[in-house]
This record gives sequence, C-alpha cells and structure tokens, in this order.
Amino acid sequence: AKASIATDACFYEEEMDKTVRLRRRMVKELRTAIDRGEFSLHWQVQESVGTGAITGYEALLRWTRADGSSVSPANFIPLAEQSGLILAIGEWVLRTACATAASWAEPHRIAVNLSPVQLGHVDLPRLVQQVLLDTGLSPARLELEITETAMIADPVRTIHILRQLKAIGVSVAMDDFGTGYSSLSTLRSFPFDKIKLDRSFMAELNGAPQSAAIVRAVLTLGESLDIPVLAEGVETPEQLAFLREQGCDEAQGYLLGRPGPLPVRGRDGPERLAG
Ligand code: C2E
Ligand code: CA
Ligand code: CA
Ligand code: CA
Repeated sequence: AKASIATDACFYEEEMDKTVRLRRRMVKELRTAIDRGEFSLHWQVQESVGTGAITGYEALLRWTRADGSSVSPANFIPLAEQSGLILAIGEWVLRTACATAASWAEPHRIAVNLSPVQLGHVDLPRLVQQVLLDTGLSPARLELEITETAMIADPVRTIHILRQLKAIGVSVAMDDFGTGYSSLSTLRSFPFDKIKLDRSFMAELNGAPQSAAIVRAVLTLGESLDIPVLAEGVETPEQLAFLREQGCDEAQGYLLGRPGPLPVRGRDGPERLAG
C-alpha cells in the first residue's frame, strides 16, 4: 500500500511539473505574441431584443500561435493576468479595437473587455483618453466591459475610475452578472450603463425552472435601477422569445451571430457586411 501511495505521489508531482512547464512555456510565448502579430480580434454582434437593430459589437481576443494552433482566451487571459502581461495585451486590444472600429463604414458602438488587473495597475482613464485621441474614435462609440469580481476587490477605487471613464464619455457595462456576489446595493453604487447577464442563465433556462425566475428577477432589477440588461449566450429562438416576452433590452449569442473577424450579423449570413 505504501509503495502505491508513493507511486501516486510521484505521478502527481510529475503531472504538476508538466502543467507548470506548459504554463511557463505559454507565458514565454505570450510575451512575444504581440510582436509576432499572433493576436487578432473577433467581433460578436449585440442586438436590441425589441427591434432586432444592431446595438454594438463586442471585441473578443484571439491568439493563433506560430504553429497554427489557437488558445482560448479563457485559458491564456488568466496566465496573462498572473504574469502582468495583460497590461500590454489589454492596451493592444483597446488600441486595435478602437482603430478598427474607427475605419468601419458604419459607426457601430464597440464593447471592449477590461481585466481587473488593468483597473488596478494603469492610469486607465488617461490611457482610454489617449487611445480615443490617437484613433479618432468618438467616446460615445466605446463601451468598456468590467466583470462583477473587479468591483468587489476595491469598490471605492473602482467607483472612482468608473466615474472618470464616464466623464470622458465612454460607457461601462457590468460583465458576467450573476456569477459573483453583488447585492442590489453594490450594483446601485456603481455607475453602470448596462448589465450583462451571464450566459450560464440562458444555458439553464430549459432545464432548471429557477433560471427563468432568476432571469426575471435580474430584468426587474435592471428596470428598477433604470439600467438596460443584455442577455449573453442566446443560442435558441425559444430563449430569444422568452427574453422578448420578459422585456429584456439586448441580446448576444450564437443565434444572433458567432464571433468572427468582421462585424457581421450571423442571422443574415456572413455575406452581409456591417462595415
Ligand atoms: P466574455 O467576455 O463573457 O465573452 C463572451 C464569451 O462567450 C466569448 O468567448 C464568446 O465567444 C462566447 N459566446 C458568445 N455567444 C455564445 C453562445 O451563444 N454560447 C456560448 N456557449 N458561448 C458564447 P471567448 O471569446 O472564448 O472569450 C472567453 C472570455 O475571455 C471572455 O468572456 C472574456 O472574459 C475573456 N476575454 C476575451 N477577450 C478578452 C480581452 O480582449 N480582454 C480581456 N481582459 N478578456 C477577454
Ligand atoms: Ca465580455
Ligand atoms: Ca460575459
Ligand atoms: Ca425593459
């Protein structure tokens, strides 16, 4: 029995070493990814539930390595955050997103994701102002998405930064709402222009009856705070119909359009260029 435990421990350590080595290698590759031109942005449409009009496009970061393999942002963003590389990567995303959108024929609004690390470590309002100036994008066309967890770490500082950002004329959305622990009162104290309901609630709509109640509750919350709600992860016509019935303001998801290299609306087919 003893030998087997020792073997298990060894095996476990070997596996640990392997993950640590893999992570180190990935961080090393991330370090040069910008210079090698391995990053790109994909765009996913956001729509008004009531009218079907396009309300914006979210920029989603893509990383294709030299060997042609791609890594999901869900995997490399945490590594970029831990290593501090997210500051340079985040700035690249912001600049590229604003410059790209400024060149579109149609002046759609864009949504750019911010890491909590960016909120804590750079003079974000100044950076945003500089990027808008450099790219010529109107502040009204930029929305910044910040996750609920970023609020909780340092609420006072975060509120201050959000106010500065809003003074520039950009809007701010609370991303992944419902996955953290925000209460009604914290939500009220942050000056958000939009609530993005996490896609897990859409996924559970058919299976778990409580999910419908939660979606309704969040919509009521948005209504009473006078903040529009966008539902993420809308994949079926049934989900969209439910949202319409419940008075949800905006929607985003594979049903309306998958993220792609150009701002197009999936429903109309990739032939239809928006910009
Ligand atoms: P997110 O901000 O919640 O972005 C939405 C994610 O949901 C995207 O995954 C998108 O492709 C996916 N999605 C959209 N519609 C559907 C749907 O109908 N069903 C399902 N199952 N998924 C859908 P993606 O592009 O893999 O990004 C994952 C996460 O990585 C993002 O979640 C965001 O947290 C982070 N991320 C992506 N780009 C950036 C970036 O430029 N900066 C930062 N800090 N984080 C980013
Ligand atoms: Ca987002
Ligand atoms: Ca989200
Ligand atoms: Ca409403």
